[in-house]
Amino acid sequence: MNPFLELGIRHEIVNAITELGFEKPSPIQEKAIPVLLTGNDDFVGLAQTGTGKTAAFGLPLLEQIDFSQKHPQALILCPTRELCLQISKDLEKYAKYLDDARVVAVYGGANISDQLRQIRRGVQIVVATPGRMLDIINRNAIDFSSISYVVLDEADEMLNMGFQEDINNILSETPENKKTWLFSATMPKEVRRIAQKYMVDPVELTVGTKNTGNANIEHQYYLIKARDKYAAFKRIVDYYPEIFGIVFCRTKIETQEIAEALIKDGYNADSLHGDLSQQQRDKVMKRYRERNLQLLIATDVAARGIDVNDVTHVINFSLPDEVENYTHRSGRTARAGKTGISISLINVKELGKIRRIEKIIGKTFEKKQVPQGGEVCEKQLFAIVDKINHVSVNDDQISPYMPAIVESLQDLSKEDIIKRFASLEFNRFLDYYQNAPDLNIDARESGRGDRERGDRGRDRDRDRDRSRSASTGYTRLFINLGAVDEFSRGDMLGFICNNANIPGKSVGKIDMKGVFTFFEVQDHDVENVFQGFKAVDFNGRQVRIERSSGEDRSDRGGRSSRGGGDRYGKSHSRDRRGGSDRGRSYNKDFRDFSGKRRESKSRY
Ligand code: AMP
Repeated sequence: MNPFLELGIRHEIVNAITELGFEKPSPIQEKAIPVLLTGNDDFVGLAQTGTGKTAAFGLPLLEQIDFSQKHPQALILCPTRELCLQISKDLEKYAKYLDDARVVAVYGGANISDQLRQIRRGVQIVVATPGRMLDIINRNAIDFSSISYVVLDEADEMLNMGFQEDINNILSETPENKKTWLFSATMPKEVRRIAQKYMVDPVELTVGTKNTGNANIEHQYYLIKARDKYAAFKRIVDYYPEIFGIVFCRTKIETQEIAEALIKDGYNADSLHGDLSQQQRDKVMKRYRERNLQLLIATDVAARGIDVNDVTHVINFSLPDEVENYTHRSGRTARAGKTGISISLINVKELGKIRRIEKIIGKTFEKKQVPQGGEVCEKQLFAIVDKINHVSVNDDQISPYMPAIVESLQDLSKEDIIKRFASLEFNRFLDYYQNAPDLNIDARESGRGDRERGDRGRDRDRDRDRSRSASTGYTRLFINLGAVDEFSRGDMLGFICNNANIPGKSVGKIDMKGVFTFFEVQDHDVENVFQGFKAVDFNGRQVRIERSSGEDRSDRGGRSSRGGGDRYGKSHSRDRRGGSDRGRSYNKDFRDFSGKRRESKSRY
């Protein structure tokens, strides 16, 4: 008998999850489903993401909801839009064969009218981020009087993101006798406090040891000098030709810089951080999900809730400020029973932090050596051989050309042909890595041959530095709008001049990227740009200007976040409050670069 049936899940649901490939319950499902199916208890589950916890609470919920009724009976709160969409989609899949089951996802950054319409049409399960949920409650647009179950998913992350008060307010709108099920990867005292405040004698379950990361993750660190970090990072990436990774940085600007440098160096990378509009984030995530992106460079907050299977590596380009965040980061790999590697690039001063993380996760890190140039070349060579072995050949398309190809290669032996095909790619690595220095810290102490500075053919790092420094008399600035916002270079010039009230000749090079742009401005007009963009919105998103030089990372302290305190930008706080700061708002239709400023759509 199917083990889910044995647990008490009905046929219709089992059929749906069987189609999803669920053969047997994961450990958390095995433990939690029987408890939650009784519907009698509050519940606290300590479990990482990727353990199957959505089904652990989702299947018992579906079992207990009366789908003949059209009012909300279950509310699931979670920290991010991505997770919200993920959970609602998962539930819809599990409920595929249940008649009249309706799930609605409610999250910020999307049209609220559509969400309200869906609620009005009748819904039994609401999956929501706290800010938008509260907004809807405040509009009296939802009836929570029949809520029987509230699930707080990734409770620790919701509290980290400052949703405590919103959660309190939402819970106070739900009936006293509801059951509350809380899931969290860690159990800091704030989460414990929620459990004490809102639950009666909860059943507690832990999957794995408390605070312990997924057992399928290997934790590794590389000890390197800070100045070698980028070169070492690239070398590690090159050493894993099949890498499909998430790279964590501490700040938005760092994610952008690393992504920019990687793209320049010929890698397939992009950044994901809190300053991107929802549309931009969706685009980046779509590319990553579809594997059109190999490296996703992200901040902690932006990467929360990302549920992409098959992530092979998590790379901590910078260690997280909060040691606990390490667990969240590494949990992005080794999902759904797979294995994964979590790599940290550290300097000697950060060894203490590694030891603290080891204590928290109950695992030992393995110290790894940055691969030598020759080892990288060897790896790449065999990756090429593997590619040749597995490439799918389109006979129909290539056949007409075969006689000509064969003819032109006829003087070469089979071995020669093989050598030449392999060398096509291999030569780039040989060139790049010849004379590459040892980047391991012990080796670096004794004599540095600092010649590992060439792109696969070019001088990667110097290029990057060069591109970062502005022309004489100009300062290079960053603006969080780019080509995906449908700006041409001319649009951008107009947008800058119009807002900063500076002449076009004051603006130098404009370097448009996907989601952001670097531009040069004459030194004496820099302040005008900062002043001019102090309160400008574009499509509801705060336009942010920063100096692009590596040393200016003052967004750590929240320079751009008026109201302060939010290291990662304001996107989620806007989500919660539903408004932006005082100032100008643009959307595409209202862009007017002709000189006069149209101030339509200002929110105040
Ligand atoms: P979650 O922890 O809920 O985000 O689930 C992580 C991944 O595991 C998702 O892709 C699920 O579809 C998958 N999954 C959950 N439960 C099972 C199961 N019993 N068997 C196979 N895959 C599962």
